[in-house]
Amino acid sequence: MGGRDATMVLLDENGIRCDGRKVDEPRRIMIKAGGLKNADGSAYIEFGDNKILVGVFGPRDVHPKHMSNTDTGILRVRYHMEPFSVGERKNPAPSRREIEISKVIKEALEPAVMLDKFPRTAVDVFIEVLQADGGTRCAALTAASVALADAGIPMRDLVAAIAAGKVADTVILDVNNEEDQAGQADMPIGYMPNLEKITLLQLDGVLTPEEYKKCVEVGVEGCKLVYDLQKKALHEKYFGNGGE
Ligand code: ADP
Repeated sequence: MGGRDATMVLLDENGIRCDGRKVDEPRRIMIKAGGLKNADGSAYIEFGDNKILVGVFGPRDVHPKHMSNTDTGILRVRYHMEPFSVGERKNPAPSRREIEISKVIKEALEPAVMLDKFPRTAVDVFIEVLQADGGTRCAALTAASVALADAGIPMRDLVAAIAAGKVADTVILDVNNEEDQAGQADMPIGYMPNLEKITLLQLDGVLTPEEYKKCVEVGVEGCKLVYDLQKKALHEKYFGNGGE
């Protein structure tokens, strides 16, 4: 919650947000499975103004060998923001934030991936944020799940992600950059709808216990919408339709 701008109207008298959305309305989401021919699996996502590409490689040998695990495979995730992905050029050196988000996404994906099916190997997930506009970790996690599925990695479920939050004392779905900067709370959620399990939950800001519960409910419902789009993207690639 940096740089609050007291003059910005985050929610008008008609319940409309700064980008014209209703409180429970996600941004436009477009997911495409595949696209990178040199990767074993890939996906591209547009989540509002976020644009993110994910490439998956593996399962493949681990170098150096002592990093491997004889009982299970390992998942490695690198989240990277292009210097041109934000208004003011980002320093190309890996930031603390990118290291944190890489770890958070890895831990959110691990419960979904059947790592025990490929011992001694690694699956690498490379996330390139081409354009960022708030909520990149959720968009990246959503696309990474699709890219892993596209790579044929055995999975228990897809992880779908979206953020709930609070602006003008109101719980909202899918927090954009302005709402993240000037709002009261941001709660990214990753959820496996089929298994009904949350694999990512972070909270930046302050919520009452009731608001907390409402944010989780709204976020989980949002994840179900995202999940439908993930499945549609995979259907489109493999069956030439959206699953209709
Ligand atoms: P998330 O993208 O998951 O919401 P943050 O809450 O850390 O993660 O970041 C919110 C937004 O702030 C990002 O989506 C991006 O639009 C913007 N942002 C992040 N890092 C920078 C940066 N170095 N310079 C400018 N804007 C940034």
